[in-house]
Amino acid sequence: MSEEERLDEIKQLLKAMIRNKCVNPPGNELRSIRTLQDYFAAHGVESQIFESAEGRGNLYARIEGTDPNHPSLTLGPCHVDVVPVEDPGTWTVDPWEGVEKDGFIWGRGAFDMLFIVACQAAVFASFVQEGFRPKGDLVFLAVSDEEAGGLFGTKWMLDNHPELVKTDFAVTESGGFPIAPSRYVFMVGEKGINWKRLKFRGEEGHGSMPYGTPNAVLKMSQAALRLSRYDPPVETKFVGDLARGLGLSRLTRFFLENKSLVPLAIKLSAKKDIGMAKVLHALTRMTISPNVARGGEKTNVIAGQATLDVDVRTLPGQDDEYVVRHLKRALGDLAPEVEIAKVPGVPTSVGNASPSQSDFVDAMREAVRQCTTPDADLVPMLLTGASDTRFYRDVGSQAYGFSLFDDRLKLAEITPLAHGDDERISIGTLRLTAEVYERLARNFLTLP
Ligand SMILES: [Zn+2]
Repeated sequence: MSEEERLDEIKQLLKAMIRNKCVNPPGNELRSIRTLQDYFAAHGVESQIFESAEGRGNLYARIEGTDPNHPSLTLGPCHVDVVPVEDPGTWTVDPWEGVEKDGFIWGRGAFDMLFIVACQAAVFASFVQEGFRPKGDLVFLAVSDEEAGGLFGTKWMLDNHPELVKTDFAVTESGGFPIAPSRYVFMVGEKGINWKRLKFRGEEGHGSMPYGTPNAVLKMSQAALRLSRYDPPVETKFVGDLARGLGLSRLTRFFLENKSLVPLAIKLSAKKDIGMAKVLHALTRMTISPNVARGGEKTNVIAGQATLDVDVRTLPGQDDEYVVRHLKRALGDLAPEVEIAKVPGVPTSVGNASPSQSDFVDAMREAVRQCTTPDADLVPMLLTGASDTRFYRDVGSQAYGFSLFDDRLKLAEITPLAHGDDERISIGTLRLTAEVYERLARNFLTLP
């Protein structure tokens, strides 16, 4: 198929998946999984559906490589589920209609991440149609359930059919944003999420005579202060890459590569660009943010109980033991009186990361240059939330957030689109993303 035909098919697929409304929960992703399978069938692509629960499933297809020793690549795991729309009235279009206007396709999921699903499916189908024979295997995997933790999607496929879907490399959502002229972010890893509920005890007594009675709210507020003043150890590994990629000044890079100077670099950066300072801060440590406080019952009763929910985000490799150890250190002599528990109902994840320099990363950079300008470069970042790539990294694959955006929207306009109002994707981004995946697969899977 010609590039124009392929772009047209990507648009149709994207609109169809927006209209399928696979809102998770409950997901009902089989609707879009079948849309993709029908699309594949119409192009002579064999594919298989694996149902993981009632109404939910994952779609798998493969182009066999000619050399079993050549590294393999997955286009995906790409998720077809989307988050709900809280209030359609705050959108300027119907979020479920798949409207095309002003050079964009609008709708829930257009950006997160149905546009990638559509591009990856169309590129895969065009490879099959042309009879592409890569050296390494090329796998396509569309999944359910990313928005609610991935247990019926990527995790389920890796647990139940690893021989099919585990590849050496994988590329999926959350990358390709322009961050500076000719500089595009790609995601090499993600931070972990480890929310804690701290519980404090006091003794109930009359509020008119507080002297000598332990008060849970007082302990909680002391704890909140100590947590906010605590400095977890600084790690420079992830920010050094970013500083190099962004072409920051030598002095700033020197500061960011020395653990003792990082706080100063962040302070200096905050004077110019608070957004950059936030990023540098989050990428150099575990962050601790005490955000929900509850305690006491009545104004005239001394507080017997209080809880503090703390949003803890870890760097790759920092596990639960690390989190608890540092929370106790932050609490100091209060620690023995505090019970540290999980915030119920929120899954904990340990972050992980893939190398920011390798032959594969070189192939990604080369693909971006072929699609844009010869001086374009990639800037490695860590995602501060969780995505399906962590499951691939957990089984030893190298997984990246990688696509390619045009310049219709600025970075500050792009990031709020995920789960936000007026979610949309430009036609130019569809074109570039399909092209960058095609070039990446062609370049990497035919390397000598
Ligand atoms: Zn997503």
